[in-house]
Amino acid sequence: MQNRTEIQLPKGCPTILTKSQWGGRAPTCRTAMSTPVPYVIIHHTEGTACSSQSACVSQAKSVQNYHMNSNGWCDVGYSFLVGEDGRVYEGRGWTSVGAHAPDYNKNSIGISVMGSFTSKNPNTAALNAVKSLISCGVSKGYIKSTYTLKGHRNVTATDCPGNTFYNTLKSWPRFKA
Ligand SMILES: [Zn+2]
Repeated sequence: MQNRTEIQLPKGCPTILTKSQWGGRAPTCRTAMSTPVPYVIIHHTEGTACSSQSACVSQAKSVQNYHMNSNGWCDVGYSFLVGEDGRVYEGRGWTSVGAHAPDYNKNSIGISVMGSFTSKNPNTAALNAVKSLISCGVSKGYIKSTYTLKGHRNVTATDCPGNTFYNTLKSWPRFKA
């Protein structure tokens, strides 16, 4: 048992806009996911970053349209999107199987920060929103308290969630490559 100092996750839940609150499209199909899940997988969209609610809503719609129209998926692939406005935008949510990490879709929550984080981190508001969303999921019983945190690159051949953000993730609680 390692006894090292770890960053503590904030208590409580961040501001989560439901799909209908941000004007997202309803899914065309859905598979229920059994919870609590043992994994949290972190992504970046590798698209445009956003730091206001209106800009983040626009980005969330763009990601959802791409996943539904171009990829032919039932919904946006991620469980949640996070903006640098510090808000969380519901994707498939806590209880639906996602399309973000093959082999892990059925037993993980996939959280994607909007923007590209290869050479810089998401801002503090977005980092705090991700941490808060994880502890929120644990407190509500959707994520196991013994969950393992991973970057997308740990489970799929990809650069996601970007080198700089990935290096930051390594210092977060329960991270295991
Ligand atoms: Zn990813």
